[in-house]
Amino acid sequence: MTLNKLLLALMLSAPAHTSASAPTFDQCLDRLRAHALSEGIDAATFDTHVRPVTPDESVLELLDAQPEFTTPIWGYLAGLVDQERVDDGRDMLRRHADTLARVEAEYGVEPETVVAVWGVESDFGNTFGKRPLLTSLTTLSCMGRRQSFFRGELIETLRIVQSGDIAADALVGSWAGAFGHTQFMPSTYRRIAVDFDGDGRRDLVGSIPDALASTARYLERSGWRSGEPWGLEVRLPDDLGTRVSGRTSRRPLSYWRQHGITRIDGDQIDLPASTPTALLLPAGREGPAFLVFKNFDAIYSYNAAESYALAIAHLSDRLRGQGGFATAWPTSDPGLSRQDRRELQAMLLARGHDIGQVDGIIGAASRAAIEQEKQRLGITPADGRAGRRVLEELRADVGGAHVESRTTH
Ligand code: CA
Repeated sequence: MTLNKLLLALMLSAPAHTSASAPTFDQCLDRLRAHALSEGIDAATFDTHVRPVTPDESVLELLDAQPEFTTPIWGYLAGLVDQERVDDGRDMLRRHADTLARVEAEYGVEPETVVAVWGVESDFGNTFGKRPLLTSLTTLSCMGRRQSFFRGELIETLRIVQSGDIAADALVGSWAGAFGHTQFMPSTYRRIAVDFDGDGRRDLVGSIPDALASTARYLERSGWRSGEPWGLEVRLPDDLGTRVSGRTSRRPLSYWRQHGITRIDGDQIDLPASTPTALLLPAGREGPAFLVFKNFDAIYSYNAAESYALAIAHLSDRLRGQGGFATAWPTSDPGLSRQDRRELQAMLLARGHDIGQVDGIIGAASRAAIEQEKQRLGITPADGRAGRRVLEELRADVGGAHVESRTTH
């Protein structure tokens, strides 16, 4: 973000009567301190953890970032629900079977869904995010568009530290303050988190039982119905229009039955006729179609994105032993698993592109390199998306590599 854009954003976000004299960061900390004390935070806690903060303005860029291009749903799902994550998830189901059984008994959410949330949110604890919460949230409390929201999150973070539940230096996460195994926001932590291992602390960073139980409790509070599926892939009759689709257009299951929608194998759906149901067409009429029930909404409430909810839902099915979707996505350039992405990155490196580490994460440098390679190979559109076509053409393009490319796993 340029300085001008930042100033413009601040001007637009500030109330009219203060726009002429925005407070300095120090003045903001003074006001925050008074507010924190009125919320029950000790002066010592504030002065130790917030007063020394140097603002991290990179979080403001992320707050205002517009996606450079939208990832198609099949690209998104290919990375989040790949064989690696299914295998790792099955391993977690085995390793934490006792905890997950107790979690299900307490909250009514079965192990595969809880583990699927864990896998999508933090890759089973491998990626918590690296930004110190107190730095990010103090910055966002004093600068940018949503200061009052982030002020609330900062106070809740201080409450966690003050209670001794989680140490301040263990509270790292996303730029916006989501942290721990299942990436709770601090305000969600306050409402939902539980001490499930009985050590007296609600610790979503250091305790897997606490994190898994808290996730199940979140879903329970979001209306989870025990024993009901999230949804299922369906077969549509040819004459059904797309007008009736959409997650919020709920109708009784009987409505969809009357319109000829069946399971993908042609069988009837075995749930009560009154079950609230919506039709989801993530890629339109030509791609996979789904009927979704109340539990899909509970998953959706976790992060308010349908593609994300579908990733968790689908991963939970894969963990139950189901295969991929029966209907293909409407594309000639499918998405890549993380292993494919690593292979693609290794080939980019071998062709002299300075893309940093082979990590399976397609960032700005990888996208720029993919764009150049697509231009060289005559692939259209020559965009930065990591898809099957560029992977296969690079595999075939042996002469383009300076050294033999190989996958670093
Ligand atoms: Ca605990």
